[in-house]
Amino acid sequence: MKTIIEPFRIKSVEPIRMTTREQREAILREAGFNLFLVHSDDVIIDLLTDSGTGAMSSEQWAGIMRGDESYAGSPSFYRFQRRLQEVTGFEHILPTHQGRASERILFELVGGPGKVIPNNAHFDTTRANVEHSGAAAVNLPIPEAADPARPHPFKGNLDVAALERLIAEAGRERIPLVMVTVTNNSGGGQPVSLENLRAVRAVCDRHRLPLFLDACRFAENAWFIKQREPGQSGRPVRDIVREMFGLADGATISAKKDGLVNIGGLLLLRDAELLYRASNLLILTEGFITYGGLAGRDLEAMAQGFEEVLHEDYLAYRLRSVEYVGEGLTRAGIPIVQPPGGHAIYIDAAALCPQIPRAQFPGQAVVCGLYRIGGVRAVEIGSAMFGERPPPGLELVRLAMPRRVYTQSHMDYVVEVCAALAAARDRLRGLRMVHEPPVLRHFTARFEEL
Ligand SMILES: *Cc1c(COP(=O)(O)O)cnc(C)c1O
Repeated sequence: MKTIIEPFRIKSVEPIRMTTREQREAILREAGFNLFLVHSDDVIIDLLTDSGTGAMSSEQWAGIMRGDESYAGSPSFYRFQRRLQEVTGFEHILPTHQGRASERILFELVGGPGKVIPNNAHFDTTRANVEHSGAAAVNLPIPEAADPARPHPFKGNLDVAALERLIAEAGRERIPLVMVTVTNNSGGGQPVSLENLRAVRAVCDRHRLPLFLDACRFAENAWFIKQREPGQSGRPVRDIVREMFGLADGATISAKKDGLVNIGGLLLLRDAELLYRASNLLILTEGFITYGGLAGRDLEAMAQGFEEVLHEDYLAYRLRSVEYVGEGLTRAGIPIVQPPGGHAIYIDAAALCPQIPRAQFPGQAVVCGLYRIGGVRAVEIGSAMFGERPPPGLELVRLAMPRRVYTQSHMDYVVEVCAALAAARDRLRGLRMVHEPPVLRHFTARFEEL
């Protein structure tokens, strides 16, 4: 059979509230043309993010009931710890309430003024936490990442030669660690190859630098490695995942992505001294080391989620459903980042509406258009999000796919809405930012249409 079906049945449903175009017009104005400020009840298909929006399995809900809420030493923590040790091979696993809490702890310890953090592409919260510490966040994507139309099997790779140059210029003492984001969210959800990870590891070894993963989508990345990297197709995803983590000295993870839970994060460390300092900060700002800002039930849901995400029928369905939307958009003549990413399709807004200059936020104009036409909520990843420094200089609109939430007919509807927007692209209008918050401005900025 050529159809890869959703490998689950639906046990509990949530109604979607339908809205009219007139209602959405009023809602858009009220929200200052910022979809982060729209109530989710007013959204028909919500592709704002794949973060924390996934559906949990019956086994995860069963774990929620089993959750033990002891302050210290809960069996839920030990189940969680054992599962994550098995999946990653790391011995030391600190739970946090989400990815950015892990980032905040890590960069408070290793960042600071004068320090430089290289990454294939910093995610927005990662960059914000690096810079909050006083350090500089430097993106080193491969040159192919700058061309959305150009397919490349591992477009998320870090430019190893550029890393060598940065180390030579900045000096290794200023670089506390090298980070690689798998998959590369800001750069289009593109995977990083094992070959690239090994090459980065070799550079780090030569300069005695620690390598950290931003491993939010480690399972999707491993699936791409299995599909695309020579010699990897016969390997279980579990093995590939172990090798990826085995190359690293630490990792920050938001469990809201491949952890298949609605809240949770992890900080993985090897270095005992760093672990000691991180544990103390964790206790100060998150919670005791056996719950880290979470309830025992959340740890149970994570223990099960990190297992289910490695099921290969799940990964085949997951990556195929994203690719399916990419094919639909391409058929409708919409330029997208090629090839489709792991968790999202990224529309190239600059190519779709060349009449809107960058200063007028073409990505935000597309986001507003998708909502107006069909109540679809997407997110701009470009000038509005990153100001003067979008990762590879792109104006993208991300359609992020929540895990195990929408069916194929929902995705057919999304493709139709995008096609209708493309047909009316000449009528899209640019925007002006009328309220600009000081950090992570895209969350609460307000716009006016020009
Ligand atoms: C989501 C994400 C984070 C931050 O995680 P939160 O749980 O949202 O705090 C960091 N890096 C990447 C690549 C992400 O996708």
